[in-house]
Amino acid sequence: MIKSKKKQLTILLASPRGFCAGVDRAILIVERAIELYGRPVYVRHEIVHNRHVVESLEAKGAIFVEELDEVPDDRPVVFSAHGVPKAVPAEAGRRNMLFIDATCPLVSKVHRETERHHEAGRTVVLIGHAGHPEVVGTMGQLPAGAVLLVQDVAEAERLEAPDPHNLAYATQTTLSVDDTIEIVAALRRRFPGIQGPKMEDICYATTNRQAAVKAIAGHCDALVVIGAPNSSNSMRLVEVAATYGCRKSRLVQRAADMDWAWLVGARRLGITAGASAPDLLVDELIAACRERYAVTIEEVRTTRESVVFKLPRALVA
Ligand code: SF4
Repeated sequence: MIKSKKKQLTILLASPRGFCAGVDRAILIVERAIELYGRPVYVRHEIVHNRHVVESLEAKGAIFVEELDEVPDDRPVVFSAHGVPKAVPAEAGRRNMLFIDATCPLVSKVHRETERHHEAGRTVVLIGHAGHPEVVGTMGQLPAGAVLLVQDVAEAERLEAPDPHNLAYATQTTLSVDDTIEIVAALRRRFPGIQGPKMEDICYATTNRQAAVKAIAGHCDALVVIGAPNSSNSMRLVEVAATYGCRKSRLVQRAADMDWAWLVGARRLGITAGASAPDLLVDELIAACRERYAVTIEEVRTTRESVVFKLPRALVA
């Protein structure tokens, strides 16, 4: 029998992609805490938004919960990379719990900014997505009602501020760079004196992953973002791909979820991964492509990353 010849598929691999320094650090914090304090170590909220990461940490001895009242007083608890409202460590302190904060230092920086503006008497406008844990954490740095949330240009246009001459803005770290520029422009038009960071608070990893997708989107017939539906930076990558020339773009959690019928007719497939998606899930998807196609890989690198964050002192041997 003559074996049917595989169709050609060129994979354009966006780089940088996948894990960022904040995610690396958060995972390492949970692993070190388990080594140091034994099993189980509790983690409040998914340490990073990725099922695979969560399951592999569960196998090592982590227990994931949503709220602190699910954690016994005598076990350590780690707070996720997204950050937590001030009330959470305060409650852990009140209960004399051992807690380790895995909040990404770039999220902590936004927390400090909002506090500084509040202390200076400014109302803080936070650009972000309602309900995302990072937004809940950042809003929770200040007393209830002190932060006004703006999600898009329309909300910026109709924002009513108590003291329009005394405003500052901050942003979620994982937003679309382009959308945020438009929202900030709308705020600046309406409130010319509004203060804000020199660059938006969008982190280096989000910015770099979006730039890499912009570089390949126009050359792809289809583009897959490996990531989780609750991962903000992954969802933004899907949108960026569509905006920059690859309408056929979608989020896939891992190779097993891939709808191969969707790919029929595509000759050039873009692949990237959100900041919380491990590279092994990308390798897995490429291997699955190789089973079905004669694959050629072209890596398109837009920048190199060398950011590394230190672990909390309590975990350093
Ligand atoms: S995506 Fe950015 S802000 Fe979030 S953990 Fe990674 S580096 Fe930190």
